[in-house]
Amino acid sequence: PLTTADLIEEHRICVCVRKRPLNKKELAMKDLDVLTVPSKDVVMVHEPKQKVDLTRYLENQTFRFDYAFDDSTTNEMVHSQTASGDIFERGMATCFAYGQTGSGKTHVFDLLNRKTKLRVLEDGKQQVQVVGLQEKDVKCTEEVLKLIEVGNSCRTSGQTSANAHSSRSHAVFQIILRRKGKMHGKFSLIDLAGNERGADTSSADRQTRLEGAEINKSLLALKVCRLDGCCKIAGLGRNKPHTPFRASKLTQVLRDSFIGENSRTCMIATISPGMTSCENTLNTLRYANRVK
Ligand code: ADP
Ligand code: MG
Repeated sequence: PLTTADLIEEHRICVCVRKRPLNKKELAMKDLDVLTVPSKDVVMVHEPKQKVDLTRYLENQTFRFDYAFDDSTTNEMVHSQTASGDIFERGMATCFAYGQTGSGKTHVFDLLNRKTKLRVLEDGKQQVQVVGLQEKDVKCTEEVLKLIEVGNSCRTSGQTSANAHSSRSHAVFQIILRRKGKMHGKFSLIDLAGNERGADTSSADRQTRLEGAEINKSLLALKVCRLDGCCKIAGLGRNKPHTPFRASKLTQVLRDSFIGENSRTCMIATISPGMTSCENTLNTLRYANRVK
């Protein structure tokens, strides 16, 4: 029989970090790599190997996660360690990508994202409805891939329009498996909005920062929701107030994936290697640490 410790382990959010290689732009501007992955679960932020005239001393910092993937790791390798325990066996699986814009979130997931504005509603029975959401029946892998391709092209054009809002939105892609009309499993891929903070203090930037705070709140709410779900299963925490699913739209939408017994959650924090990104990288790593 499962012990409480097993349940807690089972309901913990698996948190991984993935470093991407320096890109052409960073190489052209002679940005320097400040990230090392010394073992399969540790990432280090440190001074660049080459001596430079640092404007700011970068203290060495080490973070430990469930997995740390270096810049040579392929999508297949990341997948096999994170999202591969599949819905056919496990029921509900949810995988998030979290990180600065350009750090590699979408590089794993090519998500379906419709441009229609969606509204999240909750009915009297606490069933969550997403108004305006399109569900498509698919019969084979090719059809799923085709849909993802279509969705991804929508998203890319949104991002290249240089509208700050487009990168400030979450994209949710869900695959629902039905057998004889009954839901058998659900796999949710969440491509989160870029988590970087605005550098200046213009009013447009203030809006961006408020949205950023909302995004971070959503994720911590997810952690609380997961732990709560676990306590309920273990028969603990009866006196606790209700699980704060309503804290964010994201937790509302994912509600059923968080309360089930057969549910798993994984977060992949993506980080850029460059010195110029280290402020954002440290924010991402510290934040991911809190979600663990
Ligand atoms: P985000 O979705 O976080 O804004 P992207 O996933 O679009 O960032 O990545 C930005 C760019 O960097 C893309 O061109 C992408 O292909 C590339 N990239 C990201 N991660 C990796 C990686 N691990 N290896 C190689 N290229 C990567
Ligand atoms: Mg993206």
